[in-house]
Amino acid sequence: MLRKQTWLRSIFSVPNDNPDLAIAQIRTFSRQIPIMYCMVIVNTLALAYSHHTLAPDWLTVHIPAVLISISAFRTYSYWHSGRQEISAIQACRQLRHTIILAGVLGAVFSIWALALFSYGNAYTQGHVAFFSSVTCLGIMVCLMHLKAAAIVLALTAVGPTALFLLYAGHQEFRAVGLNLIIVAVAVLYVLSNHSRSFVDLISNQSALKKSALEAYELGKENERLANKDSLTGLPNRRRFMAELNFRLKVSKEKGESFAVGILDLDGFKPINDVYGHVAGDRLLVKVGERLSQIGSEVFVARLGGDEFGIIFQGALSNTEIQELGDHICGAVEVPFELESFTANIGATFGISRFPDAGSTAKILFEHSDYVLYVAKERLRGQAILFSEKHQAEINETTGIMRGLQEADMDAELSLNYQFVVDSQTGIPVGAEALARWTSPVLGMVSPSKFIKNAEKSGLINQVTETLLRKTLAEASKWPGDLFISFNLSAHDIGSSHHINRLSEIVQNSNFPPERLTFEITETALLRDLSRAHDTLQLLKGLGSKVALDDFGTGYSSLSYVQNLPIDRLKIDRSFLHNIDQCRTSQAVVKAILDLCENLDLDCIVEGVETEQQLKILQGLGRMKIQGYLFSKPLPSSDALTYLQLSPEAKFENDAAADELVKQNRMR
Ligand code: C2E
Ligand code: CA
Ligand code: CA
Repeated sequence: MLRKQTWLRSIFSVPNDNPDLAIAQIRTFSRQIPIMYCMVIVNTLALAYSHHTLAPDWLTVHIPAVLISISAFRTYSYWHSGRQEISAIQACRQLRHTIILAGVLGAVFSIWALALFSYGNAYTQGHVAFFSSVTCLGIMVCLMHLKAAAIVLALTAVGPTALFLLYAGHQEFRAVGLNLIIVAVAVLYVLSNHSRSFVDLISNQSALKKSALEAYELGKENERLANKDSLTGLPNRRRFMAELNFRLKVSKEKGESFAVGILDLDGFKPINDVYGHVAGDRLLVKVGERLSQIGSEVFVARLGGDEFGIIFQGALSNTEIQELGDHICGAVEVPFELESFTANIGATFGISRFPDAGSTAKILFEHSDYVLYVAKERLRGQAILFSEKHQAEINETTGIMRGLQEADMDAELSLNYQFVVDSQTGIPVGAEALARWTSPVLGMVSPSKFIKNAEKSGLINQVTETLLRKTLAEASKWPGDLFISFNLSAHDIGSSHHINRLSEIVQNSNFPPERLTFEITETALLRDLSRAHDTLQLLKGLGSKVALDDFGTGYSSLSYVQNLPIDRLKIDRSFLHNIDQCRTSQAVVKAILDLCENLDLDCIVEGVETEQQLKILQGLGRMKIQGYLFSKPLPSSDALTYLQLSPEAKFENDAAADELVKQNRMR
């Protein structure tokens, strides 16, 4: 019984749980129901008119007038709701009204039509039967999207009309009544199928809409995550590049300028190493927060590691950009209070301005990166704006890079040799091989420029191999047992394959490996200490020596001496600049000399240019000396002549020899 009630309720109710269906039904009704009411109105007018003279006014005028008014009002209200946004609740409510009205109006219309049956003749009765049947069936068809309304109509209008006709007494009316029942059942059946298909269609559409919406939401979430740095919550590199491109487009359209910069933290790595990655991460978050508070006109992103990208939104002058850049570096210098310690770091900032520094996002970014790199080397802790000077440097570098790519290395690379002498006797004890490049396009290019570019362009190994081969070939022709120093770059000691190639070159030469020293700078060691250690052992395995060049210019000089298999230190020439005036410089040189003596290391003082410097050094003890005072770097043939004429070659009393040595000192 209970199940029957529930089933019945489910047929006649409008469920609230399918809002899309309710709205779709109302949308369809808003097109069909006005047509249905128009049909009802016309049919009602026709029936009232045909009975006008036969039946009383209340049946042919008053009741039809009321029914037509109600129909007209319903037509308008459906037409109106079809033009408006409607909520699911409103749609359900309207559908319930429709079901009720279908029952009430269906019954009222039928009663009215059947009330006319008793007036007039067989023709007018036929009209009534026709009106009732056709109108009922027409309405059922129009209500096909709401099965409940059609069923209610069938029960309140079709059923009673059919019964009435069946019992009207005439065979023809009985036939019409029977016809009506058969057609109504068929219509209900078709309608029920159609209604199910309609429900399925709307459900599928809803599911599709829902999954499209979910996919859209998911896409939006993915996009948000893809554009966000997970640690700091700042926009990430991808988002930064998108913003840069957008800024560029807008600035080009408006003819405005803007600036973009890359900020790199100074002193972050030691904090990460000493306090651990968790502390490092926390510091990065705090830096991100501080940078974000600089102002709304500044767009901040984390590019990766301890690097942040910044875009200055407004059109600013160079001075304003510089001031803002300095302000940002200053903000990072303010200590960061972390849980267990205070972090003191700094920031170096490379900035480029559109349009002066470039007209594409790529170039602007690269130029910011370039000035950052320059500042990191020479002006740590400062904000630097890309200028014409930097552009000239880039052009020069590009020229050098291109020249190197196209160079015939054997023909264009050569070596000069600078002698190392005994501080007390002036007798040469060795020589340093210094690279020279004579480019057919660029002319003479200094090694401090082309070695760096050879490193960048990946040609350094080829350059070093050529130079080593040439050095050993030339030096093996020299008389005596002088040592030869050969410079290696950071990239040389980074590749074990390359070091093996260098070992082969040494072994295949006529030069005794014991007389060969490889010079390595602190910056070269800095990259990877354990690899450097292995490389130095390989070189020492040849029987050659290792010298630490430019000693005292880096920060971990002493730890290298302690941990690496080093034979010799070369005191950097910066200590010699003012050694004749500054007692501290003297004390430093003396301390290094003592250190070498205690550790049994060989020592060379570089950059001796004046007699006064020589005198001071001589006062500190006996050592090896290199500098313009004794010899400038000389081509191999001149170096050979110098050697033959030097005091060691027992030419002391020869005036010509003295003159050549003097000339060399003057060069
Ligand atoms: P370095 O190894 O420190 O070489 C010494 C540099 O100081 C040489 O410059 C030399 O000419 C210069 N010098 C020597 N005595 C004096 C002096 O009394 N006063 C002054 N002011 N300078 C002096 P150079 O030949 O221009 O070489 C510059 C740098 O280029 C070298 O510095 C070295 O780092 C690099 N380099 C030179 N040749 C090679 C090479 O074959 N391979 C590699 N990887 N680097 C090289
Ligand atoms: Ca050197
Ligand atoms: Ca040096």
